[in-house]
Amino acid sequence: MVSMTITLPRLYVDADLIAGRDVGLSPAQAHYLRNVMRRQRGDGVRVFNGRNGEFLATLSVLEKNVATARIEKQIKQQPTAPHAITLLFAPLKKDRTDFLVEKAVELGVAALQPILTHRTTTRRLNAERMMAQIIEASEQCERMAVPEAYPLQDLTQALADWPRDVPLLWCCERDDVPRTPLMVAEIPERFGFLIGPEGGFDEEEARLILSLPFVQPISLGLHILRAETAALTCLSHVMLRS
Ligand code: SAM
Repeated sequence: MVSMTITLPRLYVDADLIAGRDVGLSPAQAHYLRNVMRRQRGDGVRVFNGRNGEFLATLSVLEKNVATARIEKQIKQQPTAPHAITLLFAPLKKDRTDFLVEKAVELGVAALQPILTHRTTTRRLNAERMMAQIIEASEQCERMAVPEAYPLQDLTQALADWPRDVPLLWCCERDDVPRTPLMVAEIPERFGFLIGPEGGFDEEEARLILSLPFVQPISLGLHILRAETAALTCLSHVMLRS
């Protein structure tokens, strides 16, 4: 029987979750509960913070732009994720970036690292808006932790900062590069996927990427996928294999 709690609004909070304590909710969450979900003081909600699991809570205050929830009891333990995946992606046209971010969250990414490459067309990214999207998608898909979102970085800097002991799986659509099909590639516990912009990586970037010992070029098949499709494909593959 589906537990009734599944109908309760699910909210991400950063505070520690301890039974009996009140946690403050954001003005946006107060607005959502009051005006969208039509909830009232005394109604139940579910809260999670990515560290202590998920708890039932009761709205102890719910006014215009102000809300607090009284933590009642834990209903889900905090799981350990089978993989810690960082997705390095070049910002795309607005709707496509929105789609890529939302799907990456649903498909279990641990961190999003937007990168600027020579052919990246969208050179700016609203970090606050992206974080709000990430939290909303995490609440909706019932995942138990909210991915990290790192600041937009040049590709060269992101590669220079990349930990040398963490594999970086380069989604490479070029058939002049020896690649491992993702279907048969080994999936490490902690790794990154690197995906290029609409126009792909240029020669100079491809040479730099290929020169790095922690990079493993992988193929997602014969078709040239859009960047957001490539992201969806590789993350789905890992999620379904876990
Ligand atoms: N260079 C491509 C072209 O000639 O049209 C455009 C790049 S593609 C639209 C965007 C990104 O998706 C690529 O940089 C790559 O990271 C990834 N990608 C697309 N198809 C792929 C495939 N079959 N295998 C691996 N990665 C792929």
